Amino acid sequence: MATLGTALITGASTGIGAIYADRLAVRGYDLTLVARNTEKLQALASSISDKTGRAVDVLAADLGNPVDLARVEKTLREDASITMLVNNAGIGTHTTLLDSDVERMEAMVRLNVTALMRLTYAAVPGFVARGGGTIINIASIVAVAPELLNGVYGGTKAFVQAFTTSLNHELAGKGIRAQAVLPGATRTDFWALGGLPVEHLPSEIVMQADDMVDAALAGLDQGETTTIPALRDVELWQAFEAARRALGPQLSATQAAPRFKTTI
Ligand code: NAP
Repeated sequence: MATLGTALITGASTGIGAIYADRLAVRGYDLTLVARNTEKLQALASSISDKTGRAVDVLAADLGNPVDLARVEKTLREDASITMLVNNAGIGTHTTLLDSDVERMEAMVRLNVTALMRLTYAAVPGFVARGGGTIINIASIVAVAPELLNGVYGGTKAFVQAFTTSLNHELAGKGIRAQAVLPGATRTDFWALGGLPVEHLPSEIVMQADDMVDAALAGLDQGETTTIPALRDVELWQAFEAARRALGPQLSATQAAPRFKTTI
């Protein structure tokens, strides 16, 4: 059966990652599923391969653990069948600095930032050498609205958004596609794990995970480099991006701006 290559998906045992696994297999990708929960990964792998006939491998790894992370990096460097990386594994919370444990914050940075960055570094050289590849990085709307949840979580997702923007800039013309996905509230275990079950959110702002993933993949098909599944008025994002680019010529100069001139 013809294949589009293998998609390696992190955080594939449940939630958004499990939906990506289903949708990408249906599209014709073989899969490598990464997360900690081996039983869930194996159950998902069997059900997807029964449904689609695709080859589905399981790679159990705690991406917050450098030894496990190195194993996944090795797979990305050495398996030339891999054509897509979905950096989806992530954790978050809503707590403020004063109510947050800094060790948990650091663990969040290790997973949401360090693992995503190292896996991308492992995948990209092979993609470039083979003339193509796709990277989907799951950020969040808190990348542009850090006031909404925990500040470290917002910071990690701003990293994902900025890093993806830079990937598209650095890799232009090399056949690589990078997409940052900025979901709003999505109905998964993420919320309960972070200490605020999703039932506590106003239902009118919560999207089903399968609707979110289908919209994000439609955005990928349309060539978007940043996709905000809930955003109705795409002109708002375009204006935001235009304002950011307009800052460019004024961001570095020999002299401070006139408004900072001291009058002693
Ligand atoms: P989820 O249901 O909690 O799933 C998280 C996935 O990440 C699970 O498969 C989990 O599997 C895996 N994971 C967690 N820690 C891991 C670790 N140390 N090593 C390897 N895998 C790990 O959450 P989700 O909502 O699907 O979240 C997926 C992504 O979407 C995250 O990056 C999140 O920040 C982002 N996002 C979510 C929402 C939302 O409202 N749900 C909104 C915006 C962005 P194991 O437990 O088996 O390891």
